[in-house]
Amino acid sequence: MRKHINTVITTKGRKQNRLFFYSSFLFSQRVNIVTGFADLQISQEIISAMNDMGWEEPTPVQIAAIPTGLKGEDMFAQAQTGTGKTGTYGTIILHRVRPGMRAPSALVLIPTRELANQVHEELSKLSRFTGHTCVPIYGGVGIGPQADKLRKGVDIVVVTPGRAKDLMNRNDLDLSKISIVVLDEADRMLDMGFARDLNFILSKVPKKRQTLLFSATMSPEIKQLALRQMDRPQEILVSRDEPVLDLTKQYYIVANREAKRDALCTILDADKPKAIVFCHTKRRVDQLTKKLLAYDYTAGAIHGDIAQNKRERVIRSFKDGSIKVLVATDVAARGLDIDAVDCVVNFDAPDEPDTYVHRIGRTGRAGKEGMAVSIFLPEERQMIREIEHRTGKPIDLLDIEIVPRPEPAIRKVSTPQNGPSRGASGPRPRFEKSGNGGNRARLPRSLSGARMDGGRPRSKAQ
Ligand code: AMP
Repeated sequence: MRKHINTVITTKGRKQNRLFFYSSFLFSQRVNIVTGFADLQISQEIISAMNDMGWEEPTPVQIAAIPTGLKGEDMFAQAQTGTGKTGTYGTIILHRVRPGMRAPSALVLIPTRELANQVHEELSKLSRFTGHTCVPIYGGVGIGPQADKLRKGVDIVVVTPGRAKDLMNRNDLDLSKISIVVLDEADRMLDMGFARDLNFILSKVPKKRQTLLFSATMSPEIKQLALRQMDRPQEILVSRDEPVLDLTKQYYIVANREAKRDALCTILDADKPKAIVFCHTKRRVDQLTKKLLAYDYTAGAIHGDIAQNKRERVIRSFKDGSIKVLVATDVAARGLDIDAVDCVVNFDAPDEPDTYVHRIGRTGRAGKEGMAVSIFLPEERQMIREIEHRTGKPIDLLDIEIVPRPEPAIRKVSTPQNGPSRGASGPRPRFEKSGNGGNRARLPRSLSGARMDGGRPRSKAQ
């Protein structure tokens, strides 16, 4: 096996909404112009399914990765959720795998149950006219019915590593005919401690296979995994102007600890957005969710200690709009496929710029405008610059009149005349003043854009 990695870089063209892609093999120049799915040699059956799904043109990662994948080459792609990566490997699998075989032909390894369900849903839609069958398999539920489904015969198995190993040990998962393996969110699988399981599973898949690896980050561990498990993989990088950021207005607020919740409530009250709110820890997620519920917001929490079925229920409620605020940790929220999120609020600042990009990638998707507001503590403000440097996009100070509010328990006995009574017991909330000399500026009237022009950050943000 030759240990060697080629590189393909994609970027987005400006003219007539066409997507240009610069494919460089070890950076030698070759430029292709792609205007639609047909240019990628995708079959009409799959294009019809894509059209039914409302897809009009390929995303940059699809442009870069599908031709390489259709040639049968191994590749690893640095692509976040929201870039169209499932459609990328789904298209490759549907082209290269014959439907209706007795044993599974494609294996998609995936970190969580939620993702397994999402990928299964998307592959089922994509394969509407091709006749491929697909099954999602994960832990935390009975293994017997899953084994039954596998015995009946299926083309594509989308499975979490732990459950794949259990099924293999029971001889219920036959990997002897697998010709394509996908490692989806490989970095997350490594973070979750699945490295040994992955190596075990891959050791049981025929050596003569195509391996596709997708990861939001490219750590040395990921590169090592790629080199160990792949044959001369092409490396696909989506350029820094990730499409997920293009439609998202980014704002920040600087507030002390006591003021954060008031800032959040003011944002949530402004236009009743469908919002995902990020906290550092599971405990903070629980605490904040409780407070929001006490304030009568429809809120739900997701983090790793909440049972899978409850998490799924919360996500379903958020998708159908019965919950407007989803409070989450980074790990729980990664990979969620939820469109039409109006706003992401970083209630706790992200620990690094890449985390910021993952978080705000939840909004501004599928052609809709989004908004991201990050609440920084005074001592965290240098991060604003670091994030701007990472994304190449400005983050503007949000002019906002933050409305202080009493503790929910106190509110029950307070009267409008009493006003908020928080100040009597705790430290006073403190906000960064906006550049016009006061802290009484305006929140955008509408999150869909009425006052989102923002302007450059005021001097205090520098
Ligand atoms: P993923 O990166 O696979 O999580 O995809 C994110 C979302 O983008 C999913 O809802 C897909 O259905 C959608 N999507 C994927 N490819 C396209 C495309 N070419 N045009 C429009 N939407 C797409």
